[in-house]
Amino acid sequence: MPKCSECKDTGVIETGNNSLPCNCEAGEVALFNVAWVDGPVTGQEMRRHFLNPCPEPISAAATKIPASDLPGRRRLKPFHESIVDVIQNALWFELQGLSKLLLVTKIPKNHDAIIEAWTRRAGVERYKHVVASLRQQKAIAELTNKS
Ligand SMILES: [Zn+2]
Repeated sequence: MPKCSECKDTGVIETGNNSLPCNCEAGEVALFNVAWVDGPVTGQEMRRHFLNPCPEPISAAATKIPASDLPGRRRLKPFHESIVDVIQNALWFELQGLSKLLLVTKIPKNHDAIIEAWTRRAGVERYKHVVASLRQQKAIAELTNKS
């Protein structure tokens, strides 16, 4: 038995003319094509930018805009960049949780900036193992990128 009787959990309502996001949870993440966007758009983005009425309308452009330029997506960064900002603004008691995350996350690049931010915020002594782990990841990433 589907959770949503409107869309049968597909998140998509077919009107005959077009596909619209359902108002349920599945509708938030269902993917749609918009004529003037290059790449799929989520149901949440459809409601936010492309339906009538919508809070932040984006109107037809002469050339297709990349889906990655939609307002909500511009704020998102890859982990190896966002973690630097998060470390710099971390409260003291948050460092322990961040250290656990850093120790189990594969980080492809930006190790030096992360190490610098971490050392500045956490100091050198208390979380030596985090810095050692980041340095090791950097060495491994450099070896991997050469081959
Ligand atoms: Zn639904």
